[in-house]
Amino acid sequence: MTAPIEARVALVTGGSRGLGAGIVEDLLAQGYAVATCSRSRTDQVEVWEKEFPDRFSFLSADVSVEADATRYVKDVVQRWGRIDVLVNNAGVAGEGMIALTDDGLIDRVVDLNIKGTLYVTRAASRTMLARRSGAIVNISSVVGLSGYRGLSVYSATKAALDGMTRSLARELGSRGITVNSVAPGYLRTEMSHGLDEDQLKQIERRTPLGRLGDAQDVARVVSFLVSPDNKFMTGQVLVVDGGLSS
Ligand code: NAP
Repeated sequence: MTAPIEARVALVTGGSRGLGAGIVEDLLAQGYAVATCSRSRTDQVEVWEKEFPDRFSFLSADVSVEADATRYVKDVVQRWGRIDVLVNNAGVAGEGMIALTDDGLIDRVVDLNIKGTLYVTRAASRTMLARRSGAIVNISSVVGLSGYRGLSVYSATKAALDGMTRSLARELGSRGITVNSVAPGYLRTEMSHGLDEDQLKQIERRTPLGRLGDAQDVARVVSFLVSPDNKFMTGQVLVVDGGLSS
């Protein structure tokens, strides 16, 4: 049985800024209790703590570290009693030509984007399995589908997330748990600061809807996927890129 939104608890990783903050904001606006984590606090976190003392919680956690990720999920279950929605949003890009890429960059990107997502999902799925309901969204990227010069490590991890989504949808579907990926195009967040103005203008020109995306564009799609209105969509990769890849 799917609980009404007011009784539902959502865990969003990396919600202190950027896209994650947009997803937290949207879920709070709809009445969810929202737990989020990142390595450091932001002013936005303080605002939510004051505004929603009974519906919002933040803890520092590095989800690329197994013990931290598992402890964080345990803390959320202890505080809120359940997890209905998991949004695996925390991610890092790491740019560079493959021939010049050092081990540190590969480890950083793989450890957070793939291993961190697996650690959090493993721990959260245990509580969802026990309740026989839940919704998981993995934030992947159009770069995992179409590729981008200088982002081979990042795109490898994002394609991996889409594979994970499809397998988990098959594994967890019979227990009432949906698993989908949302693959954003280029958004104006700190992550896209690596792109120069010319690259951003070129992306805008090539995008049928004529602009870069913002966090709200993507958050609305995530909110639908995890809502009680999504009764039959699982194992899918939803591209939210203003038509760039169409
Ligand atoms: P962002 O602005 O860099 O924000 C990343 C968030 O994740 C921050 O809250 C950050 O906080 C947190 N984080 C980073 N490392 C972490 C760790 N080890 N443990 C826990 N939290 C961690 O990035 P964004 O642009 O919002 O990206 C969010 C997601 O969207 C990522 O998965 C990204 O790949 C995906 N995406 C982004 C774009 C884009 O154009 N921006 C496009 C497609 C997909 P701390 O640094 O304090 O930990």
